[in-house]
Amino acid sequence: MVQLRSYLGGQWVAGSGSPQTLLNPATEEPLATASSDGLDLRGALEHARTKGGPALRALTFAERGARLKAMADALQAERDRLLELGIANGGNTRSDAKFDVDGAIGTLLEYSQIGNALGSKKFLVDGEGIQLGRSARFHGQHIAVPRHGVAVHVNAFNFPAWGFAEKAAVALLAGMPVLSKPATSSAMVAHRIMEVLAGKKILPEGALSLLVGGAGELVSLLGAQDVLAFTGSGDTGARIRSARNVIEYSVRMNVEADSLNAALLGPDVEPRSDMYELFLKDVVRDMTQKAGQKCTAIRRVLVPQTLLSSVKEDLIELLSTVKVGDPADEDVRMGPLATASQLSDAREGVARLGGKLAFGSLSPFPHKGFFTTPVLVESPGEAVHEHEVFGPVASLLPYSENPAQLVARGNGGLVSSLYSEDQGFIEQVVMDIAPHHGRVFLGHPKVELSPGPGTVLPQLVHGGPGRAGGGEELGGARGLAFYMQRVALEGSRPVIQKLTG
Ligand code: NAP
Repeated sequence: MVQLRSYLGGQWVAGSGSPQTLLNPATEEPLATASSDGLDLRGALEHARTKGGPALRALTFAERGARLKAMADALQAERDRLLELGIANGGNTRSDAKFDVDGAIGTLLEYSQIGNALGSKKFLVDGEGIQLGRSARFHGQHIAVPRHGVAVHVNAFNFPAWGFAEKAAVALLAGMPVLSKPATSSAMVAHRIMEVLAGKKILPEGALSLLVGGAGELVSLLGAQDVLAFTGSGDTGARIRSARNVIEYSVRMNVEADSLNAALLGPDVEPRSDMYELFLKDVVRDMTQKAGQKCTAIRRVLVPQTLLSSVKEDLIELLSTVKVGDPADEDVRMGPLATASQLSDAREGVARLGGKLAFGSLSPFPHKGFFTTPVLVESPGEAVHEHEVFGPVASLLPYSENPAQLVARGNGGLVSSLYSEDQGFIEQVVMDIAPHHGRVFLGHPKVELSPGPGTVLPQLVHGGPGRAGGGEELGGARGLAFYMQRVALEGSRPVIQKLTG
């Protein structure tokens, strides 16, 4: 069996102690082991701070962008192998694995272009200069410079490639070295990515490290110049956020956590219309893609009371065509959940939602693997607005008036989607739900090749208030701000203007 190692301090190192075994979730076959016990995390962080940081800061944005392009090219050349690993270790169908790996490549390319556009600068000039007194000489200018610490990235199990790349691309472009920690259960993809990138020596020494296995004392070693970007459950996020050093040194932190994303069908939409069909398609895709293990997946399906039975019938019909099984089989549309504990959490979660199952079952499958059917819940209890079931599970919620209020009961989310052609209704709902989200998706059948609300695009912000963690990532050049220190320069105009070019 493969023993996954970590890439720390510019070399591959193996942990000691009893390792965790990584499985194929469709067959429960052991694939690899990983342990981080005994690794020198303090030394790894220092190596990144003292070698990787200065080397990255010496590069211009365009030069950093060129490294990101080289990273994207290297992953493209390794794509088939990465897809195979995503299928074997992640329970992904080939299409799910492409979603992850191609998303990673696309995000690296997008940020390489942003770097190219920023050109020969090494830091950002933020806004116009400001005359501060009567004399034009007294001048102020905001700039943003790369922080001198390490960007520590802790990722969830569901997107081992994209999760790695969407964070690393932004930090590296900003000029910060990265230490990335994938979730252990699905770490084989991120491990292979690191093997490829380290082998090609695309980045300066110390600019990119990978910790495979538990985080150990990692968070407690972070200081005032470091940043921590976490994606995972709200519970783990809350634990990390309250770490003593995180509070004491104001370690800059971004949390991407749970979300009860809603899809809202407008009262103007006729059954069988293009808008109606698009809505059904997006709901079914979000329930089944990656077996519903997407932070952006639709969990609450809001439909006008008058359309409830029609939507229910149509969703049941579509869900009954979804073949669940080993994603190594090409005709399988939905694979297993990632781990045994994800499966038991999903089953418990459905029970907690209450109501009835309009579609699907919680019965164990008669063979190995962490499988469940898609599950459509009707008449759920209040828990539907409080508890995220991280699997192929959505709940039907009828409304008769003010659906935006129902959406807002999710207490902060990543994305909600609206399907309507009534401009007045759209404007009202957008204004009412926007403060509760990082993104609002306006479904329209005329938007060709729409990826649906579940796809995070690097040009747009990803994150959300409240339950979603209160964070923000990506959003094109906006994302750089997290890894940079904004500072106001105050003094003589000619001096400041020379400095900022
Ligand atoms: P998780 O159990 O919270 O784990 C997330 C990551 O945190 C893993 O890498 C895990 O490492 C690590 N971790 C656990 N305890 C830690 C600690 N004390 N210090 C530092 N790191 C620690 O979440 P998950 O089960 O992987 O992911 C599912 C959840 O993620 C869902 O709730 C989903 O909504 C959320 N999610 C959110 C987004 C988003 O963008 N908002 C995206 C994807 C997923 P080990 O694997 O080694 O334990």
